[in-house]
This record gives sequence, structure tokens and C-alpha cells, in this order.
Amino acid sequence: MSVTPFQEPITADEIKDKARALGADLVGIADSAQINANPPDPDEPRIPANISDHDAGNVIVLGKRLSSGVTRIPRWNERHKYYNDELTMTTLEEIGLELVLWLETKGYPALIVPPTHVDPWRYRGDPDEHLKPLLPLEHCAVEAGLGTLGLNHQLLTPEYGPRVMLAGVLSTVPVECGAPMETGLCLGPECGRCLSACPGDVIGHWDRDWSACDKYRAPHGFHHLTDYLTNLMTEPDANKQKMMLRSEDSFDLWQSILRGAGAVTGCRRCNDVCPVGADYEKMLKDALDAIPEDTPEKEARLKAMAEAEARGAMPDGYERQKRWIGKPGYLEK
Ligand code: SF4
Ligand code: SF4
Repeated sequence: MSVTPFQEPITADEIKDKARALGADLVGIADSAQINANPPDPDEPRIPANISDHDAGNVIVLGKRLSSGVTRIPRWNERHKYYNDELTMTTLEEIGLELVLWLETKGYPALIVPPTHVDPWRYRGDPDEHLKPLLPLEHCAVEAGLGTLGLNHQLLTPEYGPRVMLAGVLSTVPVECGAPMETGLCLGPECGRCLSACPGDVIGHWDRDWSACDKYRAPHGFHHLTDYLTNLMTEPDANKQKMMLRSEDSFDLWQSILRGAGAVTGCRRCNDVCPVGADYEKMLKDALDAIPEDTPEKEARLKAMAEAEARGAMPDGYERQKRWIGKPGYLEK
């Protein structure tokens, strides 16, 4: 027998109210049919239909804002940031689990899709290869109407700009879903603050080198662990090997394994300095206005991007993702 006869009627507003009562700062509902039909990576689709045959009709996207106190610390590799962000992620996962259990009391089986897990079948033996999470949650958030993608494909929201962490809950609840915003929130290359501040200089024109970014976004992640163990195992000098065991590298990896800080959290300097979001002016601008990482070379690159756009030449990175970036409203102004 199907689960349908046991289901209570429920509305999108009731789901959103429940998620907010549990502690979510943002909540939206995306129609999985739209994501299944428009996979952001058509060559390697990561879509709800691949996760559950029965309970993936929509994606409830939950957002938890990152705390402003640590955002105001300008150093990208600051352990307090890693740790506070890891706590945000844990809180978000707990909110997701509570929402799943609540939906199930109403008769709708549901499951959490976390922001950090990747599909082990996609791992090809190269720790430096960028592995994408099981669902493109930023794109799901756009489909739910929560925001649009920015110059480096980070999610921008009207409330918190990119300073928000996401989780997804899959279910098949017959409720009204959101729709993407028509006009993008990003201010384009004339702003370009994300690119100017990026410590790895990995941001392109509506693009990002994700593998290079991973070295910063997850500084003590799997690539660090494998490099470290390879160096340790191949060191011929026993004394040097002992010192390596006692090194800061070991300490960083141990702390990351203990809490995930530095492995599932890390650099978010592009989030911090983005002026989009009601929180920026109120809570952040005084501490983050200056960008010491900027260089004349980065400025010249941004200028060339802005000039190309003014001539109507949008790059491939924009064309491929324009459904989620939206119309470049800044060009109209
Ligand atoms: S997370 Fe850090 S390295 Fe990656 S794009 Fe943002 S600022 Fe650059
Ligand atoms: S910092 Fe500026 S260019 Fe970068 S995503 Fe934010 S608004 Fe767009």
C-alpha cells in the first residue's frame, strides 16, 4: 500500500514556519522536476531523481547564516572561523533532521542531503580533483527563489548575501514551490570584490577554478591528509620523520579530524567581502571595506571584464549558468 492514505494535508507556509521555528534563517522549496530537467552539470548530473525514486519530489532548502563576529576577522585562514562555521553546519544538520522527523509524523518520508558529502562512486583516485556534493544546493536555493549566483558562482541572498550555509531536505510533499528571481543580485565585475579578496586568485569571469579553491576552502581536507601521509611515509630520515609527526601539519589534521574544522570549513573570504545582503552595511562594512589582497593586476582583469560586458560579450561561464545567475541588472543601470 502507498503512504498516501496516511498523509495529512500540509502547506508550504506550514513547512517554512516549522523550519524557522527550528532555527533556519532562510527556507525555500524547489520543484525537483525543474532541477531534474535543468541539471547545472549536464555532463555529470547531480539531481534529486538520482537520490530517491519515491521521496524526491521537492527540495526544501534550509539556510543558516554565518555569524558576523568571525566574518569580521579578515584573515581567511583563521581557526575561529573554521570552528564557528563548523558549529553552524552542525546546527543546520540538526534543524534538517528535526524537519525530516516532523514531516514523517505528517506522513511524508523525507531525508537530509548535507552540503559536504560527495558521492564515493565519483572519486577517481586523485585527491586534488574537485568533487561536487550530492546535490547542487546553491542551484536548488535559486530554484526555490532564495537568491541568485554571483561572479564566482557563490549563492547571494538579499538577507545575508553569500554568508549563509545550506542543507537540503528531500520529500514529496504536494505544496507550492518557489521560482528563480529574474534579475541577478550580483553587482558584476565593476564590484569584483570577491575576486580582489581571493587569496588563491581562483576567480574568473563568472567562473571559479574549483580544484584550486578547494586548497583554501578545505585547507586540511583529504588532499592535505594524503600529501602529508605520502611525505611522512617516504621520508628516509627517522629523526625528520619524528619531527613531521609532531609538526603543525599533524596538529591541524588531528583537529580537523576531531571537529571537521578546516576540512568541511575553510576560506570564505569571497563571502565575507561581498556587499550584497542587508547584513553587510549594518554588521560588516566597517571591518571589511579594505581589501589588502587586491593588486593592480586583479584590478586590470576586472576592468577588462567590465569592458567586455559593456560591449555585450558575456563569457561562457555566464552563458552556462545564466538560469541561476539571472539577468545582469547592473548593466541596465
Ligand atoms: S573560498 Fe577562498 S579561495 Fe575559494 S573563491 Fe572564495 S576567496 Fe577564493
Ligand atoms: S563581491 Fe561583488 S562581484 Fe563578487 S559576488 Fe558579490 S556582488 Fe558579485
